Amino acid sequence: MPPETQAKTPASISSLIERWQSVQLQVADAAKKCNRDTSLVRILAVSKTKPASAIAELYQLGQRAFGENYVQEGVDKIHQLQHLSDIEWHFIGPLQSNKTKDVAEHFAWCQSIDRDKIARRLNDQRPHHLPPLQVLIQVNIDDESSKSGIALRDLDALAEFVSQQSNLNLRGIMAIPKANASAEEQQQSYAQLQLAFMQLQAQYPSVDTLSLGMSSDLAAAIAHGSTMVRIGTALFGARQ
Ligand SMILES: *Cc1c(COP(=O)(O)O)cnc(C)c1O
Repeated sequence: MPPETQAKTPASISSLIERWQSVQLQVADAAKKCNRDTSLVRILAVSKTKPASAIAELYQLGQRAFGENYVQEGVDKIHQLQHLSDIEWHFIGPLQSNKTKDVAEHFAWCQSIDRDKIARRLNDQRPHHLPPLQVLIQVNIDDESSKSGIALRDLDALAEFVSQQSNLNLRGIMAIPKANASAEEQQQSYAQLQLAFMQLQAQYPSVDTLSLGMSSDLAAAIAHGSTMVRIGTALFGARQ
């Protein structure tokens, strides 16, 4: 291809395709290595700080599930992209009780449930014309004070509470393991999450989602049963 022709392809678009394909390959490779079915690992595109135009580009390539961390930023993009009717919005950031209404009204999923009060408010505020809000309980697996989420020992009680809310559908667990853990610590945290997920699944038929793994640890997460990897940087490039 002559250089002039090549230059006509906007660089941002061609590299987005490359990054998207690369992430899909990484997921497929990781699943293959542990004899898991690739189709059981979903990719959530984490679009925080990225413009609606970048989300629209990735949507055109076939991606449907997008994750946002900040309520107002997410709601703004949801409005800008309302014409994409089958797009699926996940709220994945820490959630304060004065922001639950926006999440209940605009998102399909909330992955960061960490207390009864938040669950009750989301349930009460979920509009009746919408399907139940799909929810994950966030587990703070490495007990880091900087992170939201409950301790594993509190999972059963919160799961029971959530499962009683008729406008919420309990789908599983989300976790953000410590970034700088040793290989041994990492292994232990992932194994604990996998076990907790399997136990929850045995109790609640609606549970099918272990949201674990980001750009840098997706292979390890998939090896430990992750069914949803949340990928930001590897898809959209570094954030400011
Ligand atoms: C930002 C974020 C991600 C994506 O992280 P990357 O390392 O950019 O892939 C995933 N999950 C949560 C909860 C996040 O806040």
